Amino acid sequence: MSKAVLALSCALCLVYPTTVSAWGYQGHKVVGSIADQLLKPNAKQQVRQILGFDLRTAGPWADCVKSVVRHDDGTFRYEVDPNHLEFEVPCTPFSAKEERARIVDYVRRNWDTCSYTPDGFERGCHNTFHFDDIAVQRTRFDRNFQGQNPHDLVAVIGAAIAVLTDKPMAPPFPFSIKDKKEALFMLAHFLGDLHQPLHVGSVYLDANGRRVDSDIAHAVDPATATSGGNAIQDQNVNLHHEWDDIPTDIGDAATRELLSDAREVSASQGRIEDWPAAWASDSILVSHDAFRGLTFKLIQTEPANTWSVAFDDHVAYLRAQDAIKRKQLAKGGARLAEILNAIWP
Ligand SMILES: [Zn+2]
Repeated sequence: MSKAVLALSCALCLVYPTTVSAWGYQGHKVVGSIADQLLKPNAKQQVRQILGFDLRTAGPWADCVKSVVRHDDGTFRYEVDPNHLEFEVPCTPFSAKEERARIVDYVRRNWDTCSYTPDGFERGCHNTFHFDDIAVQRTRFDRNFQGQNPHDLVAVIGAAIAVLTDKPMAPPFPFSIKDKKEALFMLAHFLGDLHQPLHVGSVYLDANGRRVDSDIAHAVDPATATSGGNAIQDQNVNLHHEWDDIPTDIGDAATRELLSDAREVSASQGRIEDWPAAWASDSILVSHDAFRGLTFKLIQTEPANTWSVAFDDHVAYLRAQDAIKRKQLAKGGARLAEILNAIWP
């Protein structure tokens, strides 16, 4: 690869890191691991039987599918990126022939169900399942707000629950979920994403770095979009990545502290169908804390607007961030188990 191409792709990956996962894979494993330990016997048995993996192993699956490349002739192939062998680390449990075939099939079926072109190239609809971009001025999730869509994080969790409960899927239904095993792979991942606050709440900024409310204009001006903090640089890291990383002392499995926090998470109210939106509302409130005490400055306009971030009190911010991450991981694990225990009491 030439230097020019490298520079270009690097510039693009700073702005649109489409291959990047929420929580890193460690966070997804931790959420799955907490849920594994909170499953009641029947749910545990069903997961073992249908999924064939524990939830800790399954957590990163929906990011592993990002290694499927669509070629110009319309064929789809799973290709390990030699420049990013680290992406493959959590995906080796799915390297058996039939698991790889399942992954390719999932991407093929979910590629054209919507159009997603964040950098001018078609990226496949399945990439949109991982997030919402609700403005931080909102205090809840609502289908009337900007930054949501029919193929977003809340919708995909609802769709997976519908498949697992044998419920008909309400149209419009921009997902193809083949079977309960696929639905479980999806739930195990997307419950993690739902609890990373920057996967749900987003800040919109103008050229002066001031916060913009996209719901006043009833439209998102793409020039103001930060894509959940992906377009905000904190030194060499973008703010979204910074929130994806989990505290290193946790490792990649549930700790005693996280399990004890997860057991304290209050039970969800109402119908299971309403839980994903209620949890998204909770994550929007958490995102308020994630964007508190920050000021922004436009530093780059090509290939897309990028802002730098400054902190009122960086040490206090990092301390709060660490505490929020632990709390959110515990909630994600508790709620993943809560769904499955409700489906299989
Ligand atoms: Zn994700």
